[in-house]
Amino acid sequence: MAVIDRVLAPESPLTRRFFFLAKRFVAGETIASALQAVEALNAAGLTATLDYLGEDVADRALAQRTRDVYLELLQAIRRDGARTNVSVKLSALGLLIDEELAVSHVRSIVAQAQRAPDPFVRIDMEGSALTDATLRVFERVYAEHRSVGPVLQAYLRRTPGDVDRAIALGARVRLCKGAYNEPPQIAYRDMPTIRREYLRLAEALLSRGNYPGIATHDERLITAVKTYAADQNIGADRFEFQMLYGVRPSRQRSLVAEGYRVRVYVPFGTHWAGYFYRRILERKENALFALSSLVRR
Ligand SMILES: Cc1cc2nc3c(=O)[nH]c(=O)nc-3n(C[C@H](O)[C@H](O)[C@H](O)COP(=O)(O)OP(=O)(O)OC[C@H]3O[C@@H](n4cnc5c(N)ncnc54)[C@H](O)[C@@H]3O)c2cc1C
Repeated sequence: MAVIDRVLAPESPLTRRFFFLAKRFVAGETIASALQAVEALNAAGLTATLDYLGEDVADRALAQRTRDVYLELLQAIRRDGARTNVSVKLSALGLLIDEELAVSHVRSIVAQAQRAPDPFVRIDMEGSALTDATLRVFERVYAEHRSVGPVLQAYLRRTPGDVDRAIALGARVRLCKGAYNEPPQIAYRDMPTIRREYLRLAEALLSRGNYPGIATHDERLITAVKTYAADQNIGADRFEFQMLYGVRPSRQRSLVAEGYRVRVYVPFGTHWAGYFYRRILERKENALFALSSLVRR
């Protein structure tokens, strides 16, 4: 990670040259390109959530810059009437510098989002070192505005407790498997167990939660969630599937054709290396796609 981050740092001359590799998974480097991607998704019946890429910011000015980009982005969304909300990463908004700084940046973003067509602000979940702090920040802002919600990761052993807490609060949760390399003491690491946990948590959120986001590309989980919802008479308007930009795009559209709501996570910005690297490591299909772009060049 350190090597790729250095080689593909935003200021590196190589970054622009290698963007073609990431293009399937990252909407572009600017707000305009991100909104163009959203427009195409909206035209296909999909909604979106926009993420300005960046994480692990150690400098106050950079954290402020990230907040400002979100404020500008929300104005542009309002102007365009785009059907999208936003997702933020707290480490990009200063959580590693000072928790109060992150709270104040999230407050500004949430306040600006109140004027957007979809005022919801999602707080992404990062590595386990930030889980407690992320949930603390979420709860503080949630006490003032209900239009903010956390992401919970099914691979963490602690997550059933966090799901219960979110259900008690009435908060909207995005449930994902979890994308970071966590130690076995705190996280399940084998896929059958992660899938089993995911489904158990998804069922709790579908039955007792508030409009959960079922974030997965895993066909087995998608089928299991559809079956559970149908068996429990949970209408397709009470939850949404969520997938990443460029991953299984035809499945995103076929779910819409089946009558389900689908939101696509659309990342943009110049700090795409870390995000791209996680997608490549995650699935051989993603790695093969990047490789084929290289060969087609
Ligand atoms: C909208 C969204 C938001 C997310 N937010 C966060 C977050 O805040 N924090 C976090 O830690 N993680 C986040 N993640 C990432 C998540 O935790 C997983 O790392 C990622 O989604 C991979 O798990 P999966 O269940 O989608 O599929 P995988 O476990 O990667 O794959 C399972 C199965 O899905 C199918 N599949 C998957 N990818 C493909 C493909 N490219 N082509 C064809 N079939 C495929 C295959 O059948 C495969 O066997 C998010 C994911 C999504 C979709």
